[in-house]
Amino acid sequence: MRISLLGAPGSGKGSQAKLLCERYSLEWISTGALFREAISNGTALGRQVAPYLEKGVLVPYSLTMDLLRGRLSARHDDFLLDGFPRTTEQAKSFTDINSFDHVIFLRVHDEVIVSRLSSRYVCSCSIAYNLLTKKPKQDLTCDVCKRPLYRRDDDKPEVIRLRLAIYHQETEPLIKYYKDRGILLDVDGSLSINKVFSQITSFLDG
Ligand SMILES: [Zn+2]
Repeated sequence: MRISLLGAPGSGKGSQAKLLCERYSLEWISTGALFREAISNGTALGRQVAPYLEKGVLVPYSLTMDLLRGRLSARHDDFLLDGFPRTTEQAKSFTDINSFDHVIFLRVHDEVIVSRLSSRYVCSCSIAYNLLTKKPKQDLTCDVCKRPLYRRDDDKPEVIRLRLAIYHQETEPLIKYYKDRGILLDVDGSLSINKVFSQITSFLDG
């Protein structure tokens, strides 16, 4: 089974990827992990990618495709690509490398994502909390070291809304591209992890 799993930041993609890979024995491939792997192996591609990650800017699309080509050949047939492709252009290029049987899109309303992500707080000792799912015992105070918790800039509502706007702009045409090809599974990702997972599996198994 060859799957692409798409969803905005905060859509619960990581949880579903893990469950799907376990259930169907898929190789979990994320471009982020490929970048980090290439850098830590000190490959030529890794050296090209490193400055982009350091600056926190988007890695150019040709480098991403080169890395993927190194990892996936047309022979691979049990994998889950996490968060790739990002654009229709990437989707078209991917047809030279391999193809997907299913593209799963976790659709979550923006305000649900904003509330999920803006509930994340961290401590300077690096422990992460979530006011919805993993609350500290005392208001905004670390359970372990008792220091005050803070919200990362990335998790501030106005920053999240901006990221989501960019995501939609890139992704809507991509979703349509796969829908037109009849391989899109559009899932309501605002439900619980187990409910989302059972929607996906009943489709894949059915
Ligand atoms: Zn702490």
